[in-house]
Amino acid sequence: MSDISVNIEIDDEAKYEKCFYCFASLSKYNKENDHFPVPYDCGGTQTIPACVTCHDMKDRFPIDRWTIETWTELMVEFDKLRSRTLRILFAKVVCAAMRMEKTRKKELE
Ligand SMILES: [Zn+2]
Repeated sequence: MSDISVNIEIDDEAKYEKCFYCFASLSKYNKENDHFPVPYDCGGTQTIPACVTCHDMKDRFPIDRWTIETWTELMVEFDKLRSRTLRILFAKVVCAAMRMEKTRKKELE
């Protein structure tokens, strides 16, 4: 179903012990298997370990509902991005989220 085929290498220790996103220690109580890089509903079968909070933020909490604190945190991290593609992707995501938020607010008026 999906055209994307990317195999994310995860070392054995990280596979079972750390959240792929925030590196928090995982237990059987807070570990979830996140379909990444291809979402499950797009045919993805590979999963990475994620804590519930990160998995929620990625898949269950719409980006236009992210808080200003989250965006501020991201903007601080922007300088650390050294890849042109990642910087453009980041800028694109921020613009898209702001447009979605603007549209949502207009619909509520
Ligand atoms: Zn996490």
